[in-house]
Amino acid sequence: MRIDEILKKKRTLSFEVFPPKKGGGEIDKLFETIDGLKALNPDFISVTYGASGSNARGAAEIAGRLKTVGIEPLAHVTGGPSTPAEIDALSKKLKSLGVENVLALRGDKPSEYTAEYCKHFPHASDLESYIKKYGFCMGAACYPEGHVESATLYDDIENLKKKVDCGAAFFITQMFYDNAYYYRLLNEARRAGVNIPIIPGVMPLTGLKNIAKIKSMCGSTLPIEFRNMIEVYSGSPTALKEAGLNYAAYQINDLIAKGAPGVHVYTMNRADTATEIVSRLKNVLNEFFTD
Ligand code: FAD
Repeated sequence: MRIDEILKKKRTLSFEVFPPKKGGGEIDKLFETIDGLKALNPDFISVTYGASGSNARGAAEIAGRLKTVGIEPLAHVTGGPSTPAEIDALSKKLKSLGVENVLALRGDKPSEYTAEYCKHFPHASDLESYIKKYGFCMGAACYPEGHVESATLYDDIENLKKKVDCGAAFFITQMFYDNAYYYRLLNEARRAGVNIPIIPGVMPLTGLKNIAKIKSMCGSTLPIEFRNMIEVYSGSPTALKEAGLNYAAYQINDLIAKGAPGVHVYTMNRADTATEIVSRLKNVLNEFFTD
């Protein structure tokens, strides 16, 4: 089912998975994770796609597998260095697997970036315009603290408008740890005329390794409560994990109480993380995510 249709009826609960770097046994492990995630009844699961080709292997097959087991896939498609022929091949493959939803992205830039790198699809909106012909329900990414390449949040919001004009039907945000940034983005985007659903993305902190990833991936501001929690519990992995999961549940409770259209949980291929979050929000999910 198309995600824009689901969003018209209810709040969405969704997770993200990424293709393992190695195939073989790691893919089987991911399929086990998917079985674990299915038990949590998500509205969709997104599958990332490494722009440079790393972490892209098997992405379409994983999306197809989700469809087979009865979970709606959201396949990430990155313009990045791809040629139009490569995007056509991927789109046709996704279509043949029954995938109806894609998240259109430019993708991460490599450290040795040159203008040549994204010459066909310099921005997500260029990719959207190109793949529109396939009739996917398209989502796009947005950034509560503004994208790092934008001088101001308002420049970034102008570009969100372009993504909507080129066919985006919903946004999923980059992770953030201070909900005030999400509410600010929502207010300013609405003021600028961006009226499609903006699904907040939440990434639970589950361990110290996670922190480095959080910092390197999104440059998110870490509020004082969150930083204190990391410092004080850093010597106890179990306490840190519990506090991190509680913090994510607190963020989600606040987001839902203030009207968010759903929540996208960055679960880093961990069904146990998703299960822990869902168990902390059982009644909210039962009562506030229904049709
Ligand atoms: P763009 O929309 O192209 O934005 C990049 C910059 O260009 C921004 O500053 C924006 O304001 C500006 N811009 C946008 N459109 C225009 C325009 N038409 N003209 C001028 N400027 C413009 N990366 C991966 O490699 N694979 C993934 O699977 C992946 N999944 C992600 C999922 C989510 C929910 C999020 C939030 C990010 C994801 N990323 C992924 C990371 C993402 O690719 C990077 O953040 C990348 O730097 C920007 O991608 P984008 O699609 O937002 O790019």
